[in-house]
Amino acid sequence: MSVTLKLYNTLNREKTVFQPIDADNVRVYVCGPTVYDFAHIGNARPVIVFDVLFRLLRHVYGDAHVTYARNITDVDDKINARALRDFPHLPLNDAIHAVTEKTAKQFHADVAALGCLEPTVEPRATDNIEQMIAIIEKLIGNGHAYVAEGEVLFDTKSMTDYGQLSKRPLDEQQAGVRIAVDAHKKNPGDFVLWKLSSHNEPGWESPWGRGRPGWHIECSAMSGRYLGEVFDIHGGGLDLIFPHHENEIAQSRCAHGTEVMANVWMHNGFVQVEGRKMSKSDGNFVTINQLLATEDFGGRRWPGEILRLAMLMTHYREPIDFSIKRLEEAERLIAKWPAVDASEAAPCSIVIDALADDLNTVAAVQRLHALAQEANADAMLMPMFAASAALLGVLPKKTEVDEALASAVDAVVSMRLEMLKAKNFGEADKIRDELSAKGIQLKDGKDAATGERVTTWEVKR
Ligand SMILES: [Zn+2]
Repeated sequence: MSVTLKLYNTLNREKTVFQPIDADNVRVYVCGPTVYDFAHIGNARPVIVFDVLFRLLRHVYGDAHVTYARNITDVDDKINARALRDFPHLPLNDAIHAVTEKTAKQFHADVAALGCLEPTVEPRATDNIEQMIAIIEKLIGNGHAYVAEGEVLFDTKSMTDYGQLSKRPLDEQQAGVRIAVDAHKKNPGDFVLWKLSSHNEPGWESPWGRGRPGWHIECSAMSGRYLGEVFDIHGGGLDLIFPHHENEIAQSRCAHGTEVMANVWMHNGFVQVEGRKMSKSDGNFVTINQLLATEDFGGRRWPGEILRLAMLMTHYREPIDFSIKRLEEAERLIAKWPAVDASEAAPCSIVIDALADDLNTVAAVQRLHALAQEANADAMLMPMFAASAALLGVLPKKTEVDEALASAVDAVVSMRLEMLKAKNFGEADKIRDELSAKGIQLKDGKDAATGERVTTWEVKR
């Protein structure tokens, strides 16, 4: 392999040369969304960052030799609460299903618009309950877990090197834990593997009664099932290091008797919006969907490729300030890039080397921008530019209309055709004018062959 890939590993706080366990099957796990609400721009960051890693690994080891698993957490108390709020008239299971399906669908549309490849596998927590129960049984069997007051808890003191990833001493982890609430725990830091469900909570039969899993055990079960007891890279946001990733490690290592769960742990930095921590109450909570489809942020919609490029203009381990200024900067860059088709050519070695250096997307974008100017002057360089842009997932498209927008407009146009058939001309005119204000021009006519009313549309620039 001619590319030397170096990655910063949170486990030892060092950047080291990456050596896969099996170069024929490089295995990556990234914690996916809990599907109860729109994904916000902070959720978008790991999806984009690890998509670049996925693309790079595929380039180095071959498309067929990388397995990328990103889960969907579809059992969670936040989902239950949302189901009760949004679908109070449905039976609980149907209401939960409605929430998780709707949200997962939205998530997929959002990340597709951000130019992310689909992961190789996308397991759902509720399809892996059996595997979770098996791990919990193992942990009880080998003395790492115990049953107390309807819960199965992980015994943190039973693991001599608990806390390796976050490097927090147990005492510090316990600070602030309300002892009164946790009187049934052996140690304040012990965490839930399984808890009993009441009749109005989702539940599965288990040796400990009808219940549901804790969040951490879900990722141990799904990564184990799809990637094995020890795999190459585990990723996620910085906020997941403790307790989520620490507890994933505790569960997996103690159940399987392994030295590590994953060899490399990668974490992306925090996301702020306009210099402030995102919060709903401050009114600066921005969802991917809002950016793509509404004019809530800066009074306009932002194409997915601009959002993606804006994200990659900061190194993944640095905090990022998501702002209108930054998006405009990304837009100015991409506007100077030639539109190209995908290419089989080799990407620019400077771009590859930048990415191979712990995903230095900042340097890669700089080189890509220079390469764009060179390709504008010399068409021979176009294929190399296209291949390099594809490695970052920011290939400027030749078609001016992206697919998400096209299908949205198609849906509105066909709805409007129904209105015209029903002679609801007032409403139909209103829709035509609204689309026109957004730069989309409708043209009504008749199909020459069938005589049926048809409407075509185009984007004005
Ligand atoms: Zn996880």
